[in-house]
Amino acid sequence: MSDMNVPNLTLNDGTEMPQLGLGTWKLEGEETLRVVREAIALGYRHIDTAASYDNEEMIGRAVADAIRAGDVTREELFITSKVRNEDQGAERASRAFQGSLSRLGLDYLDLYLIHWPWPQRGLYAETFAAIAKIQGLGTVQSIGVANFYEETLRELVADTGVTPAVNQVEMHPGFSQAPLRAVHEELGVISEAWSPLGRGILLQNPVIADIADQVGRSSAQVILRWLIQLDVSVVPKTAGELRLRENFDLFDFELSPGQVNQILALDDLRGFGRIFGDPLTYPGEAG
Ligand code: NDP
Repeated sequence: MSDMNVPNLTLNDGTEMPQLGLGTWKLEGEETLRVVREAIALGYRHIDTAASYDNEEMIGRAVADAIRAGDVTREELFITSKVRNEDQGAERASRAFQGSLSRLGLDYLDLYLIHWPWPQRGLYAETFAAIAKIQGLGTVQSIGVANFYEETLRELVADTGVTPAVNQVEMHPGFSQAPLRAVHEELGVISEAWSPLGRGILLQNPVIADIADQVGRSSAQVILRWLIQLDVSVVPKTAGELRLRENFDLFDFELSPGQVNQILALDDLRGFGRIFGDPLTYPGEAG
């Protein structure tokens, strides 16, 4: 298995980002080291972490080990981290960035995101302007956001004059975020899906299982392939080696337009939609 078949998406600043990456939320301790090492050995080049995942140090160790072993070079990797909510604000965000960089043991990040807009706090534009300054200094290649909805996204662009390269949001069958993806397309923002598998909940869905039977793949592969064909970046998380392989093995089959639309149509069914935190209300009132 190699990374040769993972396509790159071109960000609005000209940077290339591998469309498929490894999610790392909930990876802890030595397990993080093992999983990230295995993932790199399998060909994963894009790794998604955040200060709030408390695993940046272990990811940094895995990356250093992989580079030392000659599995990969730093330039081949694409590493993302995120500002935690309580570190919003110009000064705190700059310090937080340095903290992530030093825990990861890197001298630059490929992508740095604001983790949640937290509109009640009202600091996201100031935070993004601070991150844009860091980008100017050259220690982060690309800057973006996560969990921004249309209003906050447009306001951010109007306030700072900078368009985020990426918006990482909850997206999966039943919640394909069609309206937000259209806004992204208009603004030139890459859509990235978090919880693409709905944390496993969606793997039993009969429509997905039926398509999986038709194409001779697993439900997880069908969901991830569907997002790939929507030009969305995906960062599925798994701690299992077989699943790491399975989630990476997406580039030698294709869904038909009819199958893509069948999954999109789940958005309109009752009982589907957002499963996890709504950025309108999470993390809540500023204290
Ligand atoms: P995912 O949709 O990636 O699902 C992960 C879960 O599915 C795990 O329980 C995993 O179990 C299981 N799983 C993974 N692959 C398979 C498979 N092939 N077959 C069956 N089960 C499987 O959910 P996440 O919430 O982890 O989202 C992915 C990533 O997105 C996160 O890790 C994080 O990097 C990012 N994220 C960002 C957020 C943000 O606010 N910006 C919020 C949430 C996530 P196991 O490990 O046991 O295999």
